Amino acid sequence: MPYLMPNVASTGEPASLDDPAIDGVAFAPKVDTLQMRKAILAKLTYAVGKDPAAAKLHDWLRATSLAVRDHVVDRWIASVREAYRTGRKRVYYLSLEFMIGRQLRDVSCNLQLDAVVREALAEIGVDYEAMAELEPDAALGNGGLGRLAACYMESMATLAIAAHGYGIRYDHGLFRQKIADGWQVELPEDWLAFGNPWEFERREVAYEIGFGGTVEASEGWDGAVRHTWKPGDRVLAIAYDTPIVGWRGARVNTLRLWRARAADPIHLEAFNRGDHVGAVADRTRAESISRVLYPSDSTQAGQELRLRQEFFFTSASLQDLVRRHVQQFGDIRSLPDKATIQLNDTHPAIAVAELMRILLDVHALGWDEAWAITRTTINYTNHTLLPEALEMWPVSLMERLLPRHMQIIYAINAKLIADARKRPDCTDGMLSAISLIDEWHGRGVRMGNLAFVGSHKINGVSALHSELMKKTVFKDLGALYPERITNKTNGITPRRWLMQSNPGLARLVRDTIGEGPLDDLEKLSQLAPYAEDAAFRERFMQVKRANKERLAALILEQIGVRVDPAALFDVHVKRIHEYKRQLLNVLETIALYDAIRARPNEDWVPRVKLFAGKAASSYTTAKYIIKLINDVAKVVNSDPATRGLLKVAFLPNYNVSLAQVIIPAADLSEQISTAGMEASGTGNMKFALNGALTIGTLDGANIELRDHIGGENIFIFGLTAEEVEVVRRKGYNPSETIADNPALAAVMESLYAGVYSPDDPSRHRGTVDALRNHDYFLVTADFQAYAETQRKIAALWRNSSDWARKAVINTARSGWFSSDRAIRDYAEEIWGVPTR
Ligand SMILES: *Cc1c(COP(=O)(O)O)cnc(C)c1O
Repeated sequence: MPYLMPNVASTGEPASLDDPAIDGVAFAPKVDTLQMRKAILAKLTYAVGKDPAAAKLHDWLRATSLAVRDHVVDRWIASVREAYRTGRKRVYYLSLEFMIGRQLRDVSCNLQLDAVVREALAEIGVDYEAMAELEPDAALGNGGLGRLAACYMESMATLAIAAHGYGIRYDHGLFRQKIADGWQVELPEDWLAFGNPWEFERREVAYEIGFGGTVEASEGWDGAVRHTWKPGDRVLAIAYDTPIVGWRGARVNTLRLWRARAADPIHLEAFNRGDHVGAVADRTRAESISRVLYPSDSTQAGQELRLRQEFFFTSASLQDLVRRHVQQFGDIRSLPDKATIQLNDTHPAIAVAELMRILLDVHALGWDEAWAITRTTINYTNHTLLPEALEMWPVSLMERLLPRHMQIIYAINAKLIADARKRPDCTDGMLSAISLIDEWHGRGVRMGNLAFVGSHKINGVSALHSELMKKTVFKDLGALYPERITNKTNGITPRRWLMQSNPGLARLVRDTIGEGPLDDLEKLSQLAPYAEDAAFRERFMQVKRANKERLAALILEQIGVRVDPAALFDVHVKRIHEYKRQLLNVLETIALYDAIRARPNEDWVPRVKLFAGKAASSYTTAKYIIKLINDVAKVVNSDPATRGLLKVAFLPNYNVSLAQVIIPAADLSEQISTAGMEASGTGNMKFALNGALTIGTLDGANIELRDHIGGENIFIFGLTAEEVEVVRRKGYNPSETIADNPALAAVMESLYAGVYSPDDPSRHRGTVDALRNHDYFLVTADFQAYAETQRKIAALWRNSSDWARKAVINTARSGWFSSDRAIRDYAEEIWGVPTR
């Protein structure tokens, strides 16, 4: 064999070795409708085992997915071969979350098979849309962070980067949300119930992951001390591979997700004794590691099982990439030239210690060499400045679960502190801030500091966030190592968030300015002059209208609320969190309702207030916000006095598929977090791309959004991050603000009196009290500015051509927010790999 291909053997017959297309030339598989129809029927018969006459929609979905998948596999094998043949540097993206959504439409779109599949199914008599709806979302993530990982995997394949994603194959992804009597109810999610045609199990790719036990030190042949970790128990990590197809099939990369299996599936001795439960207890415990995704967003989970999950997938991924490297190149020392690792947040931060352990204890390198390799290979993306979200593991837990890693962390820390002491400006405050060990909260390991110290580059996810990072969490480490911090503003893939979610707009773009934007989203700027073209604006708003009609039908079907597609669709969809300030929107909704009733003859703009989002299961305040939205909806929607001018709707179970329907139908995008608290946001980008106007604070990527689309095309209001800091430092008094604002005071009083919760008048008093007394998120401070801005928005809506002009400009100028741009930046500045 000319080169090693450990992963190829089990993927079937390889495609032509020297397929020129895979080196970056766009391609489309040549398949006609007849061939596709035959392929689907063959899969139905021989892979699903069904007679077409008896096949259910689910069977057709499986058959169609398998027929499309065949086209993926050829490209996949060619991509793997290409990476071995050229010996190029690989990117390893480690993430505890990948929020992928549905895959059939994505894969078909990227392989340009969508039309052929659709026609083939139509000839057979199968409804493509209804069938595609049956595919469950791969929801292995909570929200923005997991969705970012999915967008980045797709963009890396699009830019023909040899990239591997690594994560966990959870049996159960993010819970399904039901609304019962206005409250969130969490139901288990079961995405694998009908099997998963997009994954390939690789039984032969299995690694042992150790926990607990002891560390033995011995003298090596050279007199140096060697450490051997003797874990107390072991779990197997089994690989499951999902191909990730780039746009126009530029490349197919691998997302490798690990499943936990017991090393010994059954304890035969116990079974033979008659202890049937005890015989499989170990197995159950081992396999619980990949059982379920932690459903919390922006808070540290803090449980031992979570730490086990983090180490489990990080260790398996590092063992796998080190094995691949050594097999291909023969020498571990060249790792930094041939591999770069990106840590998506601190969840895989233990990689710093685990890579050191592998280099020191397994490959017998000396400390300095091992540290140099680690520090040039690993990079870390910080996603949050919220103190409650910064991971910190108790030293006692780490010592028990990962004794060898704890030793290594102490050693890294000793050298870090010794280096800092050499500086003339070193202070005790600086030493305690940079230390990997927090001594304040009962000794904990600061995973953010560990990730920082072990990384080549550390990036924030928007310009503001990266600046704040330097001033807050990494103030001292940033001062010590200023060259390491950089910014990479997030992006979104236009394949899913424009072409697939909004085919009407994609068609209009192509008809107007051609194919250019499909391959380079920044070419959308050629659309800008058409903002002045009345006929174009008309067509643009017709697309929006059709999307709104589809959403209106969905709202009616899902929650029985009838909304007028001609109304202004004002949309607030994202995780429910106090800092995202759904509460600010609800308070203003109530104020608007009061105003409509007080002045019924005014020329009100009909408006639909749409909300969706999940609350972490343990986040009581967020759950009350959901209940409040539903309580307000109930009162407002049934009051004839509003004459349908205001409707409030909460759509359950926000996920990627629902976002793909909601976002193209939005007129107004709510991005109203307390300034300084949203690291970037990516929802903001999806909405702008789809022609919604934004009402937002100067937070996260909203600032860059304003810079790109122009201050006249976005509605910015409220305190800036600096002002928030000052207000909090001085001590904010919300009751004064409330007293000065009669509309707000009335809203608070009605909530307190139980106007929206007649069945339990005290239900929302806790919410009101928190706002009156403390209001950490400055809802009341921004209320007036927000309400005024909403009235300006209503005024603009009345001038439909001005509104349409701005909507077109939003689409035309959001090309920079493509994840292709973001990944190109990572590739050039952090990873040092070429892109096409
Ligand atoms: C984009 C997206 C998010 C992130 O939204 P933000 O508004 O940036 O918080 C969360 N969930 C889903 C399903 C998404 O598609």
